[in-house]
Amino acid sequence: MKKIVIIGGGITGLSVAWKLSENGYDVTVIESDKSIGGLAKTIEIEKYFFDIGPHSFFSEDEEVFKRVMNLFESEPNEIPYAKRRVKMLFKGKYVDYPLSAKSILQMGFLSPILCSLSFAKSYIGTYASSLFIKKKENQNLTVKQWAIENFGKYLYLNFFKPYTEQFWKIKTSELSHRVIPSNKKMDFARTLKHLLIKKYLMISKREPGKLSLVERESLPSYYPKKGFGEIANRISRQIENNGGKIYTSLEVDEITLNSNNTFVIKAKDKNFLGNFAISTVPLNKVITIIKPLHEQEIIKSAKKLEYLSLVLLYLIIKKKNVLGCQYCYFLDRPYNRISEMNNFSNYLSPQDENILAVEISCHNESEIWKSSDKDIFSLCMQGIEKDNFLKKEDITNYKVIKIPNVYPIYKKDYEIHLKKTEEYFAKIKNFFSIGRQGQFHYGDIDQMIRIGFDTADKIIKQ
Ligand SMILES: Cc1cc2nc3c(=O)[nH]c(=O)nc-3n(C[C@H](O)[C@H](O)[C@H](O)COP(=O)(O)OP(=O)(O)OC[C@H]3O[C@@H](n4cnc5c(N)ncnc54)[C@H](O)[C@@H]3O)c2cc1C
Repeated sequence: MKKIVIIGGGITGLSVAWKLSENGYDVTVIESDKSIGGLAKTIEIEKYFFDIGPHSFFSEDEEVFKRVMNLFESEPNEIPYAKRRVKMLFKGKYVDYPLSAKSILQMGFLSPILCSLSFAKSYIGTYASSLFIKKKENQNLTVKQWAIENFGKYLYLNFFKPYTEQFWKIKTSELSHRVIPSNKKMDFARTLKHLLIKKYLMISKREPGKLSLVERESLPSYYPKKGFGEIANRISRQIENNGGKIYTSLEVDEITLNSNNTFVIKAKDKNFLGNFAISTVPLNKVITIIKPLHEQEIIKSAKKLEYLSLVLLYLIIKKKNVLGCQYCYFLDRPYNRISEMNNFSNYLSPQDENILAVEISCHNESEIWKSSDKDIFSLCMQGIEKDNFLKKEDITNYKVIKIPNVYPIYKKDYEIHLKKTEEYFAKIKNFFSIGRQGQFHYGDIDQMIRIGFDTADKIIKQ
């Protein structure tokens, strides 16, 4: 029987193992962390369930959607759905997010006028230039160029520039526009149309995969009662029921290619032999553990593909409904987003308590990454007290969790390095580097499950 070794027990690795184990393959998943789920896990500490930032599930991919829902077939109440409620604090006002024509109206008197004038100016400019120069498909614009073209200079200067630079800690002129979540365009004109026709929007009639971010974010999404990690937990139980093996707390530190196209995967003192090796490890890491190593050029390119890390501060409070939404984005604060976890599920903490998850994106080895829990708490509380929704005495306890390699950083030249790395891996027979970190692909859970299923299908066809 063919042996498949999967490195990484995040959603992508688990999805490959899920499909292959159903088809009778001998699968082994090796995960370095104490528990499976990767970024989609829920960490249970004492009486609390901590997610890695706010997660919820939705998919336009019918197969993926059905497979995930079927995990809860016998107890559908365990994964209720709710409308997403997201806000952004913009110049002292809470406005709807993602930015739509409605949120522009919520910004007060002057902002809508300035937004519209600046949008009209850039729209006319772009339209006029398109009469003379044919626009290339998939042009790699920087965030700056893309935001001005689609939203106008006012929103670029007042929202896209400060927020993007606060999040990525890199100038908007140095970042590819692909860092903006969802590659589907969410231009101002489309959101205006969406606002006007929203009531009549018939999702079922739309082509799958064609919803804009605003449309996607307006749909109800699903969240398991006991934390988002329940999806990964249920997938892992199915893998084990199908005879698959899952190891945790085991970091793979060497992948040796044998001359007969098999692999020896080494993790601590264990060796695993595989006919296929599937890696979901960050590209700049996996390139250093493949033996024998050949092309120095490729190693250099893969090392240029960097990832942003995430520091999470969880605040335990007694108050309920503090933010009035599920999560809120912030400008000019040390953190980018705060989620009120009770607004996802009431079962994540004891009934009389609530959890706020505060997210700070940062580079590896940056000052905040190295800061003590106490310093991170004090820094965040300064901003929180300023915005007046909580006081220090409201916090009964707090916890800090640091996660490396969370967001692939799309610098403006990243595609050159990614292409070189992909071409190199394509030459290694029976080896796949997939998923958010393994493909440098800033995508959602459903996209990762699709990638996992498609990889399994490729192996089955072989
Ligand atoms: C804050 C946040 C909010 C999000 N919200 C949503 C949302 O609402 N909806 C949605 O659909 N998606 C959301 N996402 C995206 C989603 O979480 C990811 O796309 C998905 O979890 C990525 O899965 P993955 O398996 O590809 O990668 P990962 O989850 O990163 O898994 C990779 C795994 O490999 C392991 N690993 C790495 N190196 C080794 C090694 N050497 N040996 C063994 N194991 C190793 C890691 O520990 C990890 O478990 C969000 C992401 C973040 C960060």
